[in-house]
Amino acid sequence: MSEEMTPEDSARSILERLREGGLWQPAGLGLSYVREAGQTVKLIEQENNPTSAQARIRMRILIEGLGWSVDESDVKLVDVEHLSPQERHIQEMMLRQEMAQSWKCKCGTPLSAFPLEKGKWTFDGQQDMALPDGSTEKVEQWSVVITCPVCDAKIPTEPYDYGLLAGDDAMLDYNTGKVEYKALSRPEIIRQIDEKLTDEVLILGTFCPFNGDLLPPHVRGSVVTFYVENGGEEE
Ligand SMILES: [Zn+2]
Repeated sequence: MSEEMTPEDSARSILERLREGGLWQPAGLGLSYVREAGQTVKLIEQENNPTSAQARIRMRILIEGLGWSVDESDVKLVDVEHLSPQERHIQEMMLRQEMAQSWKCKCGTPLSAFPLEKGKWTFDGQQDMALPDGSTEKVEQWSVVITCPVCDAKIPTEPYDYGLLAGDDAMLDYNTGKVEYKALSRPEIIRQIDEKLTDEVLILGTFCPFNGDLLPPHVRGSVVTFYVENGGEEE
């Protein structure tokens, strides 16, 4: 029998994986933490309501119990009652993007200044992930390796973080090294079908239909155009 993950276990595993400058917003608490140097997180935002105020105290006890410090010297209280869920979501995305702009290479170059479009999707194998019921599930691990234009450091980033840095458009393209795919928007799909250009359109599954390469999750299920290098070309 596998044991259930305690709140301490899951907090510890999140903290250990959080990059410096990375944002942690525990679900439903209205709290936003940012990882600082060493074993410290800084609380940057708290929703201005009693639930979040109480959660803030509980989280502090939990995090300090793991041997980490919580910096609460400069917490912004945000009023969210007047916001719709959509507006709140947009604000959260803006905060995440703002944090991503502060991520730096060890040489000081911001990750946002890297040639992000050249990021290389890399399959890192499968990992057991604990489910709330105590069982485990195999989950594919992917990273996008980006290269510092100044010191040539290769930095693996989580796909979600890569999306924050590179923007949504970067998530529409994928190059296997042999085949280049570009996801189509709904109007583009309609135009291709109306003009009977269906030879140039594919729906992707798990593997590249040309050479069997494993495709990263973000392109699976996409309707794409494609360009095969050194072969029958399409655009
Ligand atoms: Zn660098």
